[in-house]
Amino acid sequence: MKAAQLTGHGAPGKFELRELPEPKPAADEVVVQVQSCGLNHLDLWVEEGGLPIPVRLPRTPGGEIAGRVVEVGSGVKSWHPGDEVAVQSNLFCGECEFCRRGEESFCPRRESLGVDRDGGFAEKVVVPARVLARLPAGMDFDTSAALTLAGSTAMHMLTDRAEVHAGDWVLVIGGASGVGSAAIQIAKQLGARVLSTASTEAKRALARHLGAEFVLDANDPGWPAEIRRITGKGADLVIEHVGGEVLQKCFECLARGGTIVTCGATAGREVPFQIWPFFVKQHRLVGSYGRNRADVLAVLDWAAAGKLRPVIDSVFPLDQTAAAFDRLRSRKVLGKVLIEPFEPVSESD
Ligand SMILES: [Zn+2]
Repeated sequence: MKAAQLTGHGAPGKFELRELPEPKPAADEVVVQVQSCGLNHLDLWVEEGGLPIPVRLPRTPGGEIAGRVVEVGSGVKSWHPGDEVAVQSNLFCGECEFCRRGEESFCPRRESLGVDRDGGFAEKVVVPARVLARLPAGMDFDTSAALTLAGSTAMHMLTDRAEVHAGDWVLVIGGASGVGSAAIQIAKQLGARVLSTASTEAKRALARHLGAEFVLDANDPGWPAEIRRITGKGADLVIEHVGGEVLQKCFECLARGGTIVTCGATAGREVPFQIWPFFVKQHRLVGSYGRNRADVLAVLDWAAAGKLRPVIDSVFPLDQTAAAFDRLRSRKVLGKVLIEPFEPVSESD
């Protein structure tokens, strides 16, 4: 089978379309033929070698997989060849205290697909059967691949790590990104009034289209003051996935008693912290990492019900994987970049 493998770190990194042996499932694993796989900032970290953990090369990146089961291990009873599935990218053990209570995002034995083991920028991928989720009837693979990782990250931030009350002001940083575009829609569905930031007019138009009432220019240093002016008190909840100076600015426009949930550090990993206003205003800063299985299932349900729409920027074939990475790195992306290792089968067949 063909796989787009990273053979050297860099920005851009070195990719090779390689012919690999057919993957074989262990007793509790399945082989999935990858129909579509979303690209995420995590993949850029893998490409650059910028993660806090070493990544062994060659490695096939890609964690946001939708496809068809083609082979199951001897112990797998609930999945069969032909089943259409999404794959949860944070592989979990299923046995620890966290997994047993449905909080797989805390699993200490977690592995990330495309980081710790080969992922979905390949014709086939082998994964434990417990990380599969069945695609709702009629859902196309691109919709799933555009939402399974980014959308469930946003779902986890908004529904597990924080709580949205009807009428709350929710600020979504980077509203045209994969996480941001889902977060705007989810917050809106939960009854929030949504504010967002974005760096170009095209991105701001997309954020407004998705349901943000006010969208500020992320390049204008005055945006936190503008958030305070619009809301009269600051944002009740901020969904933040950038880190660095942006995270600092989020504190400047956070209402008393407000919460920032953060899940990323692309703009910087060290942030000076003013503890005095933090306790006086009784702020909360909450970390969020990955997702639970329930978040993946919720995202698929919401998408099937038309409550959450994928935003697809572009689709690349497998042999253009390096170009897809270039596209995401360009920061001109509106929504998701996808790679389709197999041509989708026509609905009428
Ligand atoms: Zn576990």
